[in-house]
Amino acid sequence: MGLTFLVVVEETLNYLLFQSYSGEIFLPIDSDFKSKCKVAGEHSGHKVWGLVEPPVKLGIHGTNVAVDWDVCVGDGVCADVCPVSLYDMVDTPNHPLSNRKADPVREKDCIQCLACEMQCPAAAIKITSPP
Ligand code: ZN
Repeated sequence: MGLTFLVVVEETLNYLLFQSYSGEIFLPIDSDFKSKCKVAGEHSGHKVWGLVEPPVKLGIHGTNVAVDWDVCVGDGVCADVCPVSLYDMVDTPNHPLSNRKADPVREKDCIQCLACEMQCPAAAIKITSPP
């Protein structure tokens, strides 16, 4: 019973967290960001998309493994569940949501398991297949 029970508790917590975030102004990552946003720059070997005005607006980090840093709450579950450890947690002092973010520094290692996307309590992650 142990593992099943833990999974149920975790899913319930994720659901409640997501509800509380989505009840505020925080929206999930826009899955169409690649057509709607421009590349603002590069960071640790990956692209950064959208409006970047630090420390408040940080944009979307990564392309095929995309993390919207203006949605990310720094929970870190993505880094914990990723089987290929492609995330590093990066300090983002003075961001209104959290002072750390998940950075997809090894996005090319992604095996498309979607564990991070499904577990993220803020729906900040969008995984797509490389072109
Ligand atoms: Zn980054």
